[in-house]
Amino acid sequence: PRSMALASAAERVAAEFEYSKEDVNRGVQAFIQQMDEGLGKKGATMSQIPTYVTAVPNGTEKGLYMAVDLGGTNFRVCSIQLHGNSTFSLTQSKVAIPKELMVAKTSHELFSFLAKQIELFLKVHHEDHYQSHAERRASYIGFGAARDEQVFSLGFTFSFPVQQYGINKGTLIRWTKGFDIGDTIGKDVCALLQKEIDALGLPVRVAALVNDTVGTLMARSYTSPGKEGTLLGAIFGTGTNGAYVEKLDKITKLKAQASEAGDIDDSTGQMIVNTEWGSFDNHMSVLPDTSYDQGLDRDSVNPGIQMFEKRVSGMFLGEILRRALIDLVNDPTVPLFSDDDSSRNDIASTTTIAPDSSLYKQWGLDTSFLSITSGDTASGLKTTRQTLDHDYGVSAPSAEDAEAVRLIAAAIGKRAARLSAVAIAAVVITTNSLETSAPDGIVDVGVDGSLVEFYPNFEEYIREALREVPQIGPQGEKRIRIGIAKDGSGVGAALIALVADRKM
Ligand code: ADP
Repeated sequence: PRSMALASAAERVAAEFEYSKEDVNRGVQAFIQQMDEGLGKKGATMSQIPTYVTAVPNGTEKGLYMAVDLGGTNFRVCSIQLHGNSTFSLTQSKVAIPKELMVAKTSHELFSFLAKQIELFLKVHHEDHYQSHAERRASYIGFGAARDEQVFSLGFTFSFPVQQYGINKGTLIRWTKGFDIGDTIGKDVCALLQKEIDALGLPVRVAALVNDTVGTLMARSYTSPGKEGTLLGAIFGTGTNGAYVEKLDKITKLKAQASEAGDIDDSTGQMIVNTEWGSFDNHMSVLPDTSYDQGLDRDSVNPGIQMFEKRVSGMFLGEILRRALIDLVNDPTVPLFSDDDSSRNDIASTTTIAPDSSLYKQWGLDTSFLSITSGDTASGLKTTRQTLDHDYGVSAPSAEDAEAVRLIAAAIGKRAARLSAVAIAAVVITTNSLETSAPDGIVDVGVDGSLVEFYPNFEEYIREALREVPQIGPQGEKRIRIGIAKDGSGVGAALIALVADRKM
């Protein structure tokens, strides 16, 4: 009876995370609507940011490019040789950003440090290039007069909120992730970096400001098999976001802002749009909303914001599960983690949860645990029980405990995958991609992030939901190809620098 009580309590909680076929379809309709709204005006729920990148690569691109990535704890510098056959070689270095520079008094302190790292990288990995440039400068040979073959074009991945005005122009809206340098706000971060690069006399031009989602799309489009180009790049990692190829004339807000938008290249009739879909449905018209979702949001630093992300991405899924488990632990009628069943007849097998278990602490359960337990195929869920014991202060959990945990974790993971399918389906449908490609043509989607990479069957759950959307169906689902796109901030940023060069 006690194991039956536990099982039925777990089933009840798991059922709260069911996200039905009808839910998926209502979600898709709302997603398409909110995408349209974002294309038409500033300040919509989904930002739909124009990126000024007007073409995706097809794998034949060639050349040597640089990329840098400032996104959090590290600064990454790389050079990328594109071989023109969908392959590339990449050389990179990485340094931790000194804490004091994150909160420096002036932008100069941070950006001169970044330029210095670029100089070091060139000296170590591209000495010829560096030397010849120095000689040319010394003898005043026409550097900077015309476009110089010796100058590296660089893609700058800058993962903070920016207002973008051109392919290599964008002003910082606010710092996040522990950075706080007052005089950078409102400044063009590309210009700040270029100024310090020029001060060192380096042969480097900041050619493109890159969002990591757009980098993912570009990297996938270069490396994916076939020449049709990728439609969508999507990240399911710490956060979630997507960038896709949109028709230029559908981005109506660009015309309205033409004066501040600067030059727009309309030769392809397309532009990549950064959806910022993490904020889909912030006003909660269709998103599922269990008491666990509500508690997570209430106790978060940004209640009411990033509501889609809070149900989909790695930063949050562990916390949703933790809240569900603690509810059961605290419910006197449900014996989760309190098995003192005398039939086990063994003192040592009494289950207890330590008072200082991280399960009692906000953010105390990592999303990787969802992958561990959802994929636990060992008999008696041995891996789940061991992990609960070793990492989460639950000593001697029973097989019934582990089964309850697995059931709820799997429901949360599956809901996240089905919500991810809502975003993918909306982009495929609103761009008419299944109609405009050949009847048996492929619609390519590049994905990145630990969740989609490591959560068991994440893609299969996405596909199941895609088949349930009538505009896609089993026929359409077969034509959607989903592939991992690694290294958006390296090769993806290089490709954006390349596209930017072509427009000069
Ligand atoms: P980022 O998005 O920051 O570039 P990742 O794609 O690695 O980096 O995502 C990190 C997030 O993925 C974290 O929230 C972490 O909890 C989660 N995560 C890490 N490993 C796994 C895993 N095996 N399964 C599911 N989620 C994971």
